[in-house]
Amino acid sequence: MTATELRPGGTLPSPDAAAGTGVEQVRRLVTEVPGPRSRALHARRLAAVSRAVGSTLPVYVERAEGAVLVDVDGNQLVDLGAGIAVVNVGHAQADVVARVREQVAAVTHTCFMVTPYEGYVAVCEQLVRLAPVRRTDGDGGVRAALFNTGAEAVENAVKIARHATGRSAVVVFDHAYHGRTNLTMAMTAKAMPYKTGFGPFAGEVHRAPMSYPLRDPAGMTGEQAAARAIDVIEAQVGAAQVACVVIEPVQGEGGFVVPAPGFLPALSAWCAANGVLLVADEVQTGFARTGDVFASEHEDVRPDLVTMAKGIAGGLPLAAVAGRAEVMDAPHTGGLGGTYGGNPVACAAALGAIGAMEALDLPAAARRIEAQVRGVLEPLAAVHPGIGEVRGRGAMIAVEVVQPGTTLPDAASTAAISAACHAAGVVTLTCGTHGNVLRLLPPLTIEPALLADGLDVLATAIGATLRR
Ligand SMILES: *Cc1c(COP(=O)(O)O)cnc(C)c1O
Repeated sequence: MTATELRPGGTLPSPDAAAGTGVEQVRRLVTEVPGPRSRALHARRLAAVSRAVGSTLPVYVERAEGAVLVDVDGNQLVDLGAGIAVVNVGHAQADVVARVREQVAAVTHTCFMVTPYEGYVAVCEQLVRLAPVRRTDGDGGVRAALFNTGAEAVENAVKIARHATGRSAVVVFDHAYHGRTNLTMAMTAKAMPYKTGFGPFAGEVHRAPMSYPLRDPAGMTGEQAAARAIDVIEAQVGAAQVACVVIEPVQGEGGFVVPAPGFLPALSAWCAANGVLLVADEVQTGFARTGDVFASEHEDVRPDLVTMAKGIAGGLPLAAVAGRAEVMDAPHTGGLGGTYGGNPVACAAALGAIGAMEALDLPAAARRIEAQVRGVLEPLAAVHPGIGEVRGRGAMIAVEVVQPGTTLPDAASTAAISAACHAAGVVTLTCGTHGNVLRLLPPLTIEPALLADGLDVLATAIGATLRR
């Protein structure tokens, strides 16, 4: 079955309308990176765009398809970032393009709170079907609501949890990233660049220790790490005060930290036993990124609420919260919403992206990518003491770079490796509380030969930077 045949909800656009721009899936440099046109645009930008908005790699992109970005100088770059885990289905995915074209000509906005439309309902139907939400005896099913950004989804999950429980405290974890609005800055762990100078922050946000196997005491199990976190919550906040525990099942910006097996199930059990809602922030991990549709599924953890964004709509801004009906319906009618939440064009894109995810079996593609990436990076870790760990899950794999023989972070080498990749035409990202983690988030549709080429560049950059 092709991606254009499987379409949840809505009408079928003609396949011709979905024709791509025909970008060959190869890396090709015709100038230095960034080239002269990118540099000219960058000069223009500096006179018009706030310096407070940064760019990892100031190469100005003209178009993109699959896993290749074409810049204004005609360079073709391998995209191992997918716009931060957004275009999981690949750039210019045919079904997304066709549905967006059709929708943009039909109606772009009415505001769902004023006069609704089918696309919003159809997307929520898909999320109700897919979200791994905890069910209880006699519950009323699962419901969803749509927003614009990941931060907005997290804010709304907290609003819903507070209303549903009548409690106010929110528990988050070390290394967490939940966004850049006032509440989500309070929930995010890292000061620079996300929080420094931007306070005061929202109150009633409490931080617990995360399970971080590389840095935890040797042999600490997931259950022991959960007990450590629960002890902090009970002693410093009090279980009866807690509305929700918000956690990324695999941490994103914080360094692709994968908790030890057993940590999430133990936390989930404690939440259920104490009337605390478990919110899985799947904004980065969702939509097949980790080899399951949602990362919570890996250990069969069933959160009460799931936040989603990034990979949901093939590049258009859309976000969602899904949960049990009794929780989602707790706030009064009109208590949730926003002018643009669930925009019709973004909903059309989401229907295309979700259809493509299933038709192309992108969870399986993510697992194949993991095998290919580990096949290159793990042998390097064996010979470079500067590689502390290769970790992650599915198409969300990272290299933590350390001072050889220690677990002290080495941010300078990490930046040097990433810069060498950029100069060679491979878009890589870094992350981690200490900036010492290289992370790979390719589109899940990346061709194996193109991924091999990108990994070859990365391996060369690692070999040239780290001492053996
Ligand atoms: C990116 C991210 C967010 C914030 O999403 P925005 O769309 O940038 O507001 C929240 N949580 C996680 C886990 C993320 O990765």
